[in-house]
Amino acid sequence: MAEGAGSDSARRWRDKYLDLLDSHEKLKNTSEQQHDQMRRGLVMVSLLAEGQAAGVDKSLNDLRDALKPGASGMNRAMDELERAVKRFEEQNTAQAEVLLGQLADTAEKLSHCPLPRPLLKRIKEIRKNASNELLSWSGYINQLQSWIQILGEIATLEGFEEQRSSKWWQRWFKPNDQEAAEDLPPDSDAGEGHDTEPGFSHIAQEVSETLLNLLSQLVIPERLSHTVLNLQNRLQEGLNWYELVPLLEDTTDFLLECLGNSQTELEQFLQSLDQRLQAIQILVSEASQGQMERKRARLDLDGMVRDQIADIRSVVTGSGDLGELGVSVRDHLTMIVQAMEKYQKEEEEREERLAAKLEMLQARLSEMEQEVSESRVAIEEQRRRATHDNLTGLPNRDAYQARLAEELLRRNRYGGSLALVIGDVDHFKRINDNYGHLAGDKVLQLIARSLRKNLRDVDFIARYGGEEFVILMPETSSADAMVVAEKLRAKIEGSPFNFKKERVPITMSFGVSEFHALESPDAVFDRADKALYQAKNEGRNRICQG
Ligand code: GH3
Ligand code: MG
Ligand code: MG
Repeated sequence: MAEGAGSDSARRWRDKYLDLLDSHEKLKNTSEQQHDQMRRGLVMVSLLAEGQAAGVDKSLNDLRDALKPGASGMNRAMDELERAVKRFEEQNTAQAEVLLGQLADTAEKLSHCPLPRPLLKRIKEIRKNASNELLSWSGYINQLQSWIQILGEIATLEGFEEQRSSKWWQRWFKPNDQEAAEDLPPDSDAGEGHDTEPGFSHIAQEVSETLLNLLSQLVIPERLSHTVLNLQNRLQEGLNWYELVPLLEDTTDFLLECLGNSQTELEQFLQSLDQRLQAIQILVSEASQGQMERKRARLDLDGMVRDQIADIRSVVTGSGDLGELGVSVRDHLTMIVQAMEKYQKEEEEREERLAAKLEMLQARLSEMEQEVSESRVAIEEQRRRATHDNLTGLPNRDAYQARLAEELLRRNRYGGSLALVIGDVDHFKRINDNYGHLAGDKVLQLIARSLRKNLRDVDFIARYGGEEFVILMPETSSADAMVVAEKLRAKIEGSPFNFKKERVPITMSFGVSEFHALESPDAVFDRADKALYQAKNEGRNRICQG
Protein backbone atom coordinates (compact mmCIF):
# COMPACT_ATOMS: atom_id res chain seq x y z
CA MET A 1 0.00 0.00 0.00
CA ALA A 2 2.76 2.36 1.17
CA GLU A 3 4.92 1.29 -1.79
CA GLY A 4 2.02 1.82 -4.18
CA ALA A 5 1.46 5.34 -2.77
CA GLY A 6 5.20 6.18 -3.20
CA SER A 7 5.40 5.09 -6.81
CA ASP A 8 2.24 7.06 -7.55
CA SER A 9 3.76 10.25 -6.30
CA ALA A 10 7.00 9.66 -8.21
CA ARG A 11 5.01 9.12 -11.40
CA ARG A 12 3.10 12.32 -10.86
CA TRP A 13 6.33 14.30 -10.37
CA ARG A 14 7.89 12.75 -13.48
CA ASP A 15 4.78 13.56 -15.57
CA LYS A 16 4.83 17.09 -14.27
CA TYR A 17 8.54 17.40 -15.14
CA LEU A 18 7.98 16.03 -18.62
CA ASP A 19 5.05 18.44 -19.15
CA LEU A 20 7.19 21.34 -18.05
CA LEU A 21 10.00 20.22 -20.33
CA ASP A 22 7.50 20.03 -23.15
CA SER A 23 6.08 23.51 -22.63
CA HIS A 24 9.58 24.94 -22.20
CA GLU A 25 10.55 23.39 -25.52
CA LYS A 26 7.45 24.99 -27.14
CA LEU A 27 8.17 28.37 -25.56
CA LYS A 28 11.76 28.21 -26.79
CA ASN A 29 10.59 27.42 -30.30
CA THR A 30 8.05 30.28 -30.28
CA SER A 31 10.60 32.73 -28.96
CA GLU A 32 13.13 31.66 -31.56
CA GLN A 33 10.50 32.11 -34.26
CA GLN A 34 9.61 35.54 -32.92
CA HIS A 35 13.27 36.48 -32.70
CA ASP A 36 13.72 35.37 -36.26
CA GLN A 37 10.66 37.35 -37.41
CA MET A 38 11.90 40.43 -35.62
CA ARG A 39 15.30 40.06 -37.24
CA ARG A 40 13.69 39.75 -40.67
CA GLY A 41 11.39 42.64 -39.86
CA LEU A 42 14.35 44.80 -38.82
CA VAL A 43 16.22 43.90 -42.00
CA MET A 44 13.18 44.95 -44.07
CA VAL A 45 12.72 48.19 -42.14
CA SER A 46 16.41 48.94 -42.52
CA LEU A 47 16.10 48.41 -46.28
CA LEU A 48 13.09 50.67 -46.41
CA ALA A 49 14.88 53.39 -44.46
CA GLU A 50 17.80 53.37 -46.86
CA GLY A 51 18.51 56.30 -49.18
CA GLN A 52 18.02 59.18 -46.71
CA ALA A 53 21.66 59.87 -45.96
CA ALA A 54 24.98 58.14 -46.65
CA GLY A 55 25.91 57.94 -42.93
CA VAL A 56 22.60 56.34 -42.01
CA ASP A 57 22.85 53.89 -44.92
CA LYS A 58 26.23 52.65 -43.70
CA SER A 59 24.97 52.12 -40.13
CA LEU A 60 21.94 50.26 -41.49
CA ASN A 61 24.20 48.00 -43.48
CA ASP A 62 26.27 47.27 -40.37
CA LEU A 63 23.08 46.53 -38.48
CA ARG A 64 21.94 44.07 -41.13
CA ASP A 65 25.31 42.29 -40.90
CA ALA A 66 24.96 42.08 -37.15
CA LEU A 67 21.47 40.66 -37.58
CA LYS A 68 22.69 37.69 -39.67
CA PRO A 69 22.33 34.37 -37.84
CA GLY A 70 25.38 33.68 -35.74
CA ALA A 71 26.78 37.20 -36.22
CA SER A 72 27.80 39.47 -33.34
CA GLY A 73 28.40 43.17 -32.75
CA MET A 74 24.72 44.07 -32.46
CA ASN A 75 25.27 46.56 -29.63
CA ARG A 76 27.94 48.47 -31.50
CA ALA A 77 25.83 48.59 -34.67
CA MET A 78 22.85 49.93 -32.72
CA ASP A 79 24.96 52.65 -31.06
CA GLU A 80 26.35 53.74 -34.39
CA LEU A 81 22.92 53.78 -35.99
CA GLU A 82 21.59 55.90 -33.13
CA ARG A 83 24.33 58.47 -33.68
CA ALA A 84 23.84 58.50 -37.48
CA VAL A 85 20.08 59.01 -37.09
CA LYS A 86 20.64 61.89 -34.67
CA ARG A 87 23.03 63.60 -37.09
CA PHE A 88 20.53 63.08 -39.90
CA GLU A 89 17.76 64.66 -37.87
CA GLU A 90 19.87 67.71 -37.06
CA GLN A 91 20.73 68.18 -40.73
CA ASN A 92 17.07 67.84 -41.59
CA THR A 93 16.03 70.57 -39.16
CA ALA A 94 18.68 72.92 -40.50
CA GLN A 95 17.61 72.25 -44.06
CA ALA A 96 13.97 72.79 -43.15
CA GLU A 97 14.90 76.17 -41.71
CA VAL A 98 16.72 77.21 -44.88
CA LEU A 99 13.82 76.00 -46.99
CA LEU A 100 11.36 77.86 -44.79
CA GLY A 101 13.32 81.06 -45.30
CA GLN A 102 13.40 80.55 -49.05
CA LEU A 103 9.67 79.84 -49.16
CA ALA A 104 8.95 82.94 -47.09
CA ASP A 105 11.08 84.93 -49.51
CA THR A 106 9.30 83.58 -52.57
CA ALA A 107 5.88 84.11 -51.01
CA GLU A 108 6.83 87.66 -50.09
CA LYS A 109 7.90 88.37 -53.68
CA LEU A 110 4.76 86.79 -55.06
CA SER A 111 2.58 88.83 -52.72
CA HIS A 112 3.79 91.96 -54.56
CA CYS A 113 2.94 90.50 -57.93
CA PRO A 114 -0.29 91.50 -59.62
CA LEU A 115 -1.94 88.13 -59.06
CA PRO A 116 -5.64 87.52 -58.44
CA ARG A 117 -6.54 88.00 -54.79
CA PRO A 118 -7.67 84.40 -54.11
CA LEU A 119 -4.31 83.15 -55.34
CA LEU A 120 -2.46 85.62 -53.14
CA LYS A 121 -4.57 84.50 -50.20
CA ARG A 122 -3.66 80.87 -50.80
CA ILE A 123 0.03 81.68 -51.10
CA LYS A 124 -0.24 83.40 -47.73
CA GLU A 125 -1.88 80.34 -46.19
CA ILE A 126 0.65 77.90 -47.63
CA ARG A 127 3.42 80.06 -46.28
CA LYS A 128 1.73 80.08 -42.88
CA ASN A 129 1.47 76.27 -42.81
CA ALA A 130 5.06 75.78 -43.94
CA SER A 131 6.69 75.93 -40.48
CA ASN A 132 4.48 73.07 -39.22
CA GLU A 133 4.49 71.03 -42.36
CA LEU A 134 8.22 71.07 -42.84
CA LEU A 135 8.58 69.09 -39.61
CA SER A 136 7.48 65.85 -41.30
CA TRP A 137 7.90 64.10 -44.62
CA SER A 138 4.19 64.08 -45.34
CA GLY A 139 4.18 67.78 -44.60
CA TYR A 140 7.07 68.28 -47.04
CA ILE A 141 5.00 66.56 -49.67
CA ASN A 142 1.98 68.73 -48.84
CA GLN A 143 4.07 71.88 -49.19
CA LEU A 144 5.56 70.72 -52.44
CA GLN A 145 2.15 69.87 -53.84
CA SER A 146 0.67 73.20 -52.79
CA TRP A 147 3.52 75.15 -54.42
CA ILE A 148 3.32 73.07 -57.57
CA GLN A 149 -0.40 73.90 -57.75
CA ILE A 150 0.27 77.60 -57.24
CA LEU A 151 2.98 77.63 -59.90
CA GLY A 152 0.67 75.76 -62.26
CA GLU A 153 -2.07 78.31 -61.71
CA ILE A 154 0.26 81.24 -62.19
CA ALA A 155 1.54 79.74 -65.42
CA THR A 156 -1.98 79.20 -66.73
CA LEU A 157 -3.45 82.52 -65.60
CA GLU A 158 -5.81 83.66 -68.30
CA GLY A 159 -4.04 85.72 -70.92
CA PHE A 160 -0.71 85.29 -69.12
CA GLU A 161 1.22 85.18 -72.39
CA GLU A 162 -0.21 88.39 -73.76
CA GLN A 163 -0.09 90.07 -70.36
CA ARG A 164 3.63 89.57 -70.12
CA SER A 165 4.16 92.04 -72.91
CA SER A 166 1.36 94.38 -71.90
CA LYS A 167 1.51 97.36 -69.63
CA TRP A 168 1.35 96.95 -65.86
CA TRP A 169 -2.09 98.45 -65.51
CA GLN A 170 -3.49 96.02 -68.06
CA ARG A 171 -2.39 93.25 -65.74
CA TRP A 172 -3.87 95.01 -62.72
CA PHE A 173 -7.23 95.72 -64.26
CA LYS A 174 -7.70 92.51 -66.17
CA PRO A 175 -11.00 91.25 -64.80
CA ASN A 176 -11.18 87.82 -63.29
CA ASP A 177 -13.70 86.46 -65.70
CA GLN A 178 -13.36 87.91 -69.16
CA GLU A 179 -16.58 86.51 -70.58
CA ALA A 180 -18.70 87.53 -67.65
CA ALA A 181 -17.26 91.03 -67.81
CA GLU A 182 -18.18 91.34 -71.47
CA ASP A 183 -21.82 90.70 -70.69
CA LEU A 184 -21.99 93.35 -68.00
CA PRO A 185 -22.84 96.97 -68.56
CA PRO A 186 -19.72 99.13 -68.71
CA ASP A 187 -19.92 100.47 -65.20
CA SER A 188 -20.82 97.29 -63.41
CA ASP A 189 -18.51 95.43 -61.14
CA ALA A 190 -16.58 92.87 -63.13
CA GLY A 191 -15.41 91.13 -59.97
CA GLU A 192 -18.85 90.55 -58.50
CA GLY A 193 -19.34 87.01 -57.27
CA HIS A 194 -15.64 86.75 -56.43
CA ASP A 195 -15.98 88.30 -53.04
CA THR A 196 -12.25 88.76 -52.53
CA GLU A 197 -11.57 90.30 -55.95
CA PRO A 198 -11.77 94.11 -55.92
CA GLY A 199 -14.39 95.29 -58.39
CA PHE A 200 -13.23 97.65 -61.06
CA SER A 201 -15.98 100.16 -60.37
CA HIS A 202 -14.62 100.57 -56.82
CA ILE A 203 -11.39 101.94 -58.15
CA ALA A 204 -12.64 103.51 -61.37
CA GLN A 205 -13.98 106.52 -59.51
CA GLU A 206 -10.78 107.00 -57.58
CA VAL A 207 -8.71 106.71 -60.74
CA SER A 208 -10.88 109.34 -62.48
CA GLU A 209 -10.72 111.64 -59.46
CA THR A 210 -6.97 111.38 -59.22
CA LEU A 211 -6.48 112.01 -62.92
CA LEU A 212 -8.93 114.94 -62.95
CA ASN A 213 -7.12 116.42 -59.99
CA LEU A 214 -3.77 115.96 -61.72
CA LEU A 215 -5.04 117.65 -64.88
CA SER A 216 -6.46 120.54 -62.90
CA GLN A 217 -3.06 121.21 -61.31
CA LEU A 218 -1.33 121.74 -64.66
CA VAL A 219 -0.85 124.98 -66.47
CA ILE A 220 -1.86 123.91 -69.94
CA PRO A 221 -0.56 125.66 -73.06
CA GLU A 222 -3.24 127.15 -75.27
CA ARG A 223 -2.41 124.72 -78.07
CA LEU A 224 -3.30 121.72 -75.85
CA SER A 225 -6.44 123.14 -74.24
CA HIS A 226 -8.65 121.17 -76.58
CA THR A 227 -6.92 117.89 -75.69
CA VAL A 228 -7.31 118.50 -71.98
CA LEU A 229 -11.00 119.24 -72.38
CA ASN A 230 -11.44 116.02 -74.24
CA LEU A 231 -9.60 114.06 -71.54
CA GLN A 232 -11.59 115.75 -68.77
CA ASN A 233 -14.87 114.92 -70.50
CA ARG A 234 -13.89 111.29 -70.92
CA LEU A 235 -12.92 111.12 -67.24
CA GLN A 236 -16.08 112.84 -66.05
CA GLU A 237 -18.32 110.57 -68.06
CA GLY A 238 -17.13 107.68 -65.91
CA LEU A 239 -14.72 104.96 -66.80
CA ASN A 240 -15.23 101.41 -67.75
CA TRP A 241 -12.25 99.19 -67.73
CA TYR A 242 -12.05 98.84 -71.51
CA GLU A 243 -11.52 102.56 -71.80
CA LEU A 244 -9.14 102.78 -68.90
CA VAL A 245 -5.98 101.62 -70.66
CA PRO A 246 -6.32 103.89 -73.72
CA LEU A 247 -7.28 106.74 -71.42
CA LEU A 248 -4.24 106.24 -69.20
CA GLU A 249 -2.04 106.07 -72.29
CA ASP A 250 -3.57 109.25 -73.70
CA THR A 251 -3.14 110.99 -70.34
CA THR A 252 0.50 109.93 -70.19
CA ASP A 253 1.13 111.22 -73.73
CA PHE A 254 -0.66 114.43 -72.85
CA LEU A 255 1.40 114.94 -69.70
CA LEU A 256 4.63 114.30 -71.57
CA GLU A 257 3.59 116.76 -74.24
CA CYS A 258 2.59 119.30 -71.59
CA LEU A 259 5.86 119.00 -69.75
CA GLY A 260 7.92 119.05 -72.94
CA ASN A 261 5.89 121.94 -74.17
CA SER A 262 6.24 124.12 -71.13
CA GLN A 263 9.96 123.56 -71.21
CA THR A 264 10.34 124.49 -74.87
CA GLU A 265 7.99 127.42 -74.40
CA LEU A 266 10.14 128.74 -71.60
CA GLU A 267 13.25 128.22 -73.71
CA GLN A 268 11.63 130.02 -76.64
CA PHE A 269 10.55 132.85 -74.38
CA LEU A 270 14.08 133.27 -73.03
CA GLN A 271 15.52 133.12 -76.51
CA SER A 272 13.19 135.78 -77.86
CA LEU A 273 13.86 137.91 -74.81
CA ASP A 274 17.57 137.61 -75.50
CA GLN A 275 17.10 138.54 -79.18
CA ARG A 276 15.02 141.56 -78.22
CA LEU A 277 17.62 142.69 -75.72
CA GLN A 278 20.31 142.41 -78.37
CA ALA A 279 18.20 144.45 -80.79
CA ILE A 280 17.69 147.11 -78.14
CA GLN A 281 21.40 147.20 -77.43
CA ILE A 282 22.08 147.81 -81.16
CA LEU A 283 19.45 150.55 -81.26
CA VAL A 284 20.89 152.25 -78.22
CA SER A 285 24.41 152.13 -79.59
CA GLU A 286 23.16 153.47 -82.96
CA ALA A 287 21.40 156.27 -81.11
CA SER A 288 24.57 157.20 -79.29
CA GLN A 289 26.48 157.00 -82.57
CA GLY A 290 23.89 159.38 -84.05
CA GLN A 291 24.47 161.66 -81.13
CA MET A 292 28.19 161.70 -81.84
CA GLU A 293 27.63 162.34 -85.54
CA ARG A 294 25.41 165.23 -84.61
CA LYS A 295 28.08 166.67 -82.34
CA ARG A 296 30.69 166.27 -85.03
CA ALA A 297 28.39 167.95 -87.59
CA ARG A 298 27.74 170.83 -85.20
CA LEU A 299 31.45 171.22 -84.59
CA ASP A 300 32.08 171.15 -88.34
CA LEU A 301 29.45 173.81 -88.88
CA ASP A 302 30.80 175.83 -85.99
CA GLY A 303 34.37 175.63 -87.39
CA MET A 304 33.19 176.44 -90.86
CA VAL A 305 31.16 179.49 -89.75
CA ARG A 306 34.11 180.68 -87.66
CA ASP A 307 36.45 180.32 -90.66
CA GLN A 308 34.08 182.21 -92.92
CA ILE A 309 33.60 184.98 -90.36
CA ALA A 310 37.39 185.21 -89.89
CA ASP A 311 37.78 185.43 -93.65
CA ILE A 312 35.13 188.16 -93.83
CA ARG A 313 36.87 190.01 -91.03
CA SER A 314 40.24 189.83 -92.82
CA VAL A 315 38.64 190.91 -96.13
CA VAL A 316 36.86 193.81 -94.34
CA THR A 317 40.04 195.00 -92.63
CA GLY A 318 42.39 194.30 -95.59
CA SER A 319 40.37 195.50 -98.55
CA GLY A 320 39.90 199.04 -99.74
CA ASP A 321 37.61 198.16 -102.60
CA LEU A 322 34.02 198.30 -101.50
CA GLY A 323 32.74 196.42 -104.53
CA GLU A 324 35.23 193.57 -104.05
CA LEU A 325 34.41 193.61 -100.35
CA GLY A 326 30.71 193.29 -101.07
CA VAL A 327 31.28 190.31 -103.41
CA SER A 328 33.56 188.59 -100.97
CA VAL A 329 31.20 189.08 -98.03
CA ARG A 330 28.26 187.85 -100.14
CA ASP A 331 30.22 184.72 -101.14
CA HIS A 332 31.16 184.01 -97.58
CA LEU A 333 27.61 184.58 -96.36
CA THR A 334 26.30 182.30 -99.13
CA MET A 335 28.70 179.60 -98.02
CA ILE A 336 27.60 180.06 -94.41
CA VAL A 337 23.93 179.86 -95.40
CA GLN A 338 24.61 176.80 -97.55
CA ALA A 339 26.50 175.14 -94.74
CA MET A 340 23.72 175.95 -92.33
CA GLU A 341 21.10 174.63 -94.74
CA LYS A 342 23.11 171.46 -95.22
CA TYR A 343 23.50 171.12 -91.49
CA GLN A 344 19.82 171.67 -90.94
CA LYS A 345 18.89 169.12 -93.60
CA GLU A 346 21.25 166.56 -92.20
CA GLU A 347 20.05 167.39 -88.74
CA GLU A 348 16.45 166.74 -89.83
CA GLU A 349 17.44 163.47 -91.42
CA ARG A 350 19.32 162.47 -88.31
CA GLU A 351 16.34 163.35 -86.20
CA GLU A 352 14.04 161.36 -88.43
CA ARG A 353 16.31 158.37 -88.20
CA LEU A 354 16.57 158.78 -84.48
CA ALA A 355 12.82 159.15 -84.10
CA ALA A 356 12.29 155.94 -86.12
CA LYS A 357 14.80 154.18 -83.98
CA LEU A 358 13.22 155.50 -80.82
CA GLU A 359 9.86 154.34 -82.04
CA MET A 360 11.25 150.88 -82.69
CA LEU A 361 12.84 150.89 -79.30
CA GLN A 362 9.56 151.88 -77.75
CA ALA A 363 7.74 149.11 -79.65
CA ARG A 364 10.29 146.52 -78.59
CA LEU A 365 10.10 147.67 -75.01
CA SER A 366 6.33 147.48 -74.88
CA GLU A 367 6.39 144.02 -76.48
CA MET A 368 8.76 142.94 -73.79
CA GLU A 369 6.67 144.50 -71.09
CA GLN A 370 3.66 142.65 -72.44
CA GLU A 371 5.49 139.33 -72.43
CA VAL A 372 6.90 139.85 -69.00
CA SER A 373 3.48 140.66 -67.61
CA GLU A 374 1.97 137.63 -69.35
CA SER A 375 4.60 135.37 -67.92
CA ARG A 376 4.12 136.97 -64.51
CA VAL A 377 0.41 136.17 -64.73
CA ALA A 378 1.24 132.59 -65.76
CA ILE A 379 3.69 132.21 -62.91
CA GLU A 380 1.19 133.65 -60.46
CA GLU A 381 -1.47 131.32 -61.79
CA GLN A 382 0.91 128.41 -61.41
CA ARG A 383 1.71 129.47 -57.86
CA ARG A 384 -1.97 129.89 -57.08
CA ARG A 385 -2.71 126.42 -58.40
CA ALA A 386 0.11 124.98 -56.35
CA THR A 387 -1.20 126.53 -53.15
CA HIS A 388 -4.95 126.46 -53.73
CA ASP A 389 -7.53 123.78 -54.13
CA ASN A 390 -9.12 123.86 -57.53
CA LEU A 391 -12.61 122.86 -56.49
CA THR A 392 -13.25 125.18 -53.54
CA GLY A 393 -10.65 127.86 -54.22
CA LEU A 394 -9.46 127.52 -50.63
CA PRO A 395 -5.75 127.16 -49.78
CA ASN A 396 -4.63 123.54 -49.91
CA ARG A 397 -2.72 121.34 -47.49
CA ASP A 398 0.70 122.66 -48.62
CA ALA A 399 -0.46 126.20 -48.05
CA TYR A 400 -1.72 125.17 -44.61
CA GLN A 401 1.71 123.78 -43.69
CA ALA A 402 3.39 127.00 -44.82
CA ARG A 403 0.91 129.17 -42.89
CA LEU A 404 1.23 127.00 -39.80
CA ALA A 405 5.01 127.48 -39.86
CA GLU A 406 4.51 131.28 -40.09
CA GLU A 407 1.94 131.34 -37.29
CA LEU A 408 4.12 129.22 -35.01
CA LEU A 409 7.08 131.52 -35.67
CA ARG A 410 4.96 134.54 -34.83
CA ARG A 411 3.59 132.87 -31.74
CA ASN A 412 7.08 131.91 -30.56
CA ARG A 413 8.25 135.50 -31.03
CA TYR A 414 5.31 137.46 -29.68
CA GLY A 415 3.42 134.87 -27.60
CA GLY A 416 -0.36 134.63 -27.63
CA SER A 417 -2.54 131.66 -28.32
CA LEU A 418 -3.20 129.73 -31.52
CA ALA A 419 -6.12 127.36 -31.96
CA LEU A 420 -6.56 124.56 -34.46
CA VAL A 421 -9.92 123.28 -35.67
CA ILE A 422 -10.44 120.28 -37.94
CA GLY A 423 -13.88 119.93 -39.55
CA ASP A 424 -15.17 116.93 -41.47
CA VAL A 425 -18.46 116.64 -43.35
CA ASP A 426 -20.72 113.98 -41.85
CA HIS A 427 -21.65 110.99 -43.99
CA PHE A 428 -20.40 112.72 -47.09
CA LYS A 429 -20.11 109.43 -48.91
CA ARG A 430 -23.91 109.14 -48.76
CA ILE A 431 -24.25 112.49 -50.51
CA ASN A 432 -22.10 111.23 -53.36
CA ASP A 433 -23.93 107.92 -53.40
CA ASN A 434 -27.41 109.44 -53.31
CA TYR A 435 -27.01 112.53 -55.47
CA GLY A 436 -23.90 111.89 -57.53
CA HIS A 437 -20.37 113.11 -57.50
CA LEU A 438 -21.05 116.47 -59.10
CA ALA A 439 -23.65 117.28 -56.44
CA GLY A 440 -21.03 116.26 -53.86
CA ASP A 441 -18.57 118.71 -55.42
CA LYS A 442 -21.18 121.46 -55.30
CA VAL A 443 -21.81 120.77 -51.62
CA LEU A 444 -18.08 121.05 -50.92
CA GLN A 445 -17.97 124.42 -52.67
CA LEU A 446 -20.95 125.71 -50.70
CA ILE A 447 -19.50 124.47 -47.41
CA ALA A 448 -16.13 126.06 -48.19
CA ARG A 449 -17.83 129.38 -48.95
CA SER A 450 -19.93 129.25 -45.81
CA LEU A 451 -16.96 128.40 -43.57
CA ARG A 452 -14.80 131.17 -45.07
CA LYS A 453 -17.62 133.71 -44.78
CA ASN A 454 -18.15 132.99 -41.11
CA LEU A 455 -14.52 133.33 -40.07
CA ARG A 456 -12.45 136.43 -39.32
CA ASP A 457 -9.96 137.65 -41.94
CA VAL A 458 -7.07 136.68 -39.70
CA ASP A 459 -8.32 133.10 -39.45
CA PHE A 460 -6.82 130.78 -42.01
CA ILE A 461 -8.88 127.99 -43.54
CA ALA A 462 -7.64 125.27 -45.90
CA ARG A 463 -9.12 122.24 -47.57
CA TYR A 464 -7.01 119.56 -45.96
CA GLY A 465 -8.24 116.79 -48.25
CA GLY A 466 -11.50 115.22 -49.41
CA GLU A 467 -14.25 116.59 -47.19
CA GLU A 468 -11.93 117.69 -44.42
CA PHE A 469 -11.05 121.32 -43.59
CA VAL A 470 -8.51 122.81 -41.15
CA ILE A 471 -8.70 126.23 -39.55
CA LEU A 472 -5.93 128.15 -37.77
CA MET A 473 -7.18 130.84 -35.41
CA PRO A 474 -4.48 133.22 -34.16
CA GLU A 475 -4.95 134.92 -30.76
CA THR A 476 -7.68 132.41 -29.94
CA SER A 477 -7.82 130.00 -27.03
CA SER A 478 -9.22 126.53 -27.31
CA ALA A 479 -12.36 127.64 -25.42
CA ASP A 480 -12.93 130.56 -27.81
CA ALA A 481 -12.32 128.29 -30.80
CA MET A 482 -15.06 126.00 -29.46
CA VAL A 483 -17.47 128.94 -29.64
CA VAL A 484 -16.43 129.76 -33.23
CA ALA A 485 -16.67 126.10 -34.26
CA GLU A 486 -20.16 125.95 -32.76
CA LYS A 487 -21.13 128.95 -34.89
CA LEU A 488 -19.74 127.23 -38.00
CA ARG A 489 -21.51 123.98 -37.13
CA ALA A 490 -24.85 125.76 -36.68
CA LYS A 491 -24.39 127.70 -39.97
CA ILE A 492 -23.72 124.52 -41.92
CA GLU A 493 -26.62 122.70 -40.27
CA GLY A 494 -28.92 125.62 -41.06
CA SER A 495 -27.75 126.11 -44.65
CA PRO A 496 -30.37 125.36 -47.25
CA PHE A 497 -28.66 122.77 -49.42
CA ASN A 498 -31.07 121.67 -52.11
CA PHE A 499 -30.91 118.99 -54.74
CA LYS A 500 -33.65 119.06 -57.38
CA LYS A 501 -35.78 121.11 -55.00
CA GLU A 502 -35.34 118.52 -52.28
CA ARG A 503 -33.72 119.67 -49.05
CA VAL A 504 -30.47 117.76 -48.33
CA PRO A 505 -29.48 117.85 -44.67
CA ILE A 506 -25.75 118.51 -44.29
CA THR A 507 -23.86 118.58 -41.02
CA MET A 508 -20.24 118.72 -39.94
CA SER A 509 -18.27 117.51 -36.94
CA PHE A 510 -15.31 119.40 -35.49
CA GLY A 511 -12.28 118.68 -33.31
CA VAL A 512 -10.61 121.60 -31.54
CA SER A 513 -7.18 121.94 -29.92
CA GLU A 514 -4.73 124.66 -29.01
CA PHE A 515 -0.98 124.90 -29.59
CA HIS A 516 0.90 124.68 -26.30
CA ALA A 517 4.51 125.68 -25.88
CA LEU A 518 6.99 122.85 -26.45
CA GLU A 519 4.34 120.67 -28.06
CA SER A 520 5.05 119.45 -31.58
CA PRO A 521 2.60 120.58 -34.30
CA ASP A 522 1.93 116.92 -35.11
CA ALA A 523 0.89 116.24 -31.53
CA VAL A 524 -1.52 119.20 -31.59
CA PHE A 525 -2.98 118.02 -34.89
CA ASP A 526 -3.32 114.55 -33.44
CA ARG A 527 -5.28 115.88 -30.46
CA ALA A 528 -7.68 117.78 -32.73
CA ASP A 529 -8.03 114.73 -34.97
CA LYS A 530 -8.83 112.48 -32.01
CA ALA A 531 -11.38 115.02 -30.80
CA LEU A 532 -12.95 114.96 -34.27
CA TYR A 533 -13.24 111.19 -34.09
CA GLN A 534 -14.79 111.47 -30.67
CA ALA A 535 -17.35 113.88 -32.15
CA LYS A 536 -18.04 111.33 -34.91
CA ASN A 537 -18.41 108.52 -32.41
CA GLU A 538 -20.71 110.50 -30.18
CA GLY A 539 -23.18 110.90 -33.05
CA ARG A 540 -21.67 113.56 -35.40
CA ASN A 541 -22.90 117.16 -35.92
CA ARG A 542 -21.00 118.20 -32.80
CA ILE A 543 -17.70 119.60 -31.53
CA CYS A 544 -15.21 118.01 -29.18
CA GLN A 545 -12.14 119.48 -27.57
CA GLY A 546 -8.83 117.60 -27.61
P1 GH3 B 1 -17.95 110.35 -41.71
O1 GH3 B 1 -19.17 110.98 -41.19
O2 GH3 B 1 -17.46 109.24 -40.83
O3 GH3 B 1 -16.87 111.34 -42.01
O4 GH3 B 1 -18.35 109.62 -43.08
P2 GH3 B 1 -17.99 110.07 -44.53
O5 GH3 B 1 -18.89 109.33 -45.47
O6 GH3 B 1 -18.02 111.54 -44.65
O7 GH3 B 1 -16.49 109.65 -44.64
P3 GH3 B 1 -15.72 108.75 -45.64
O8 GH3 B 1 -14.27 109.02 -45.36
O9 GH3 B 1 -16.16 107.33 -45.56
O10 GH3 B 1 -16.10 109.28 -47.08
C1 GH3 B 1 -15.65 110.48 -47.57
C2 GH3 B 1 -16.08 110.55 -49.00
O11 GH3 B 1 -15.77 111.81 -49.57
C3 GH3 B 1 -15.39 109.52 -49.87
C4 GH3 B 1 -14.91 110.28 -51.09
O12 GH3 B 1 -15.28 109.65 -52.27
C5 GH3 B 1 -15.60 111.61 -50.96
N1 GH3 B 1 -14.81 112.71 -51.52
C6 GH3 B 1 -13.55 113.06 -51.23
N2 GH3 B 1 -13.17 114.11 -51.97
C7 GH3 B 1 -14.24 114.45 -52.77
C8 GH3 B 1 -14.45 115.45 -53.76
O13 GH3 B 1 -13.60 116.27 -54.08
N3 GH3 B 1 -15.67 115.47 -54.35
C9 GH3 B 1 -16.64 114.58 -54.02
N4 GH3 B 1 -17.81 114.67 -54.64
N5 GH3 B 1 -16.46 113.62 -53.12
C10 GH3 B 1 -15.27 113.55 -52.47
MG1 MG C 1 -16.69 112.68 -43.52
MG1 MG D 1 -13.02 112.39 -43.84
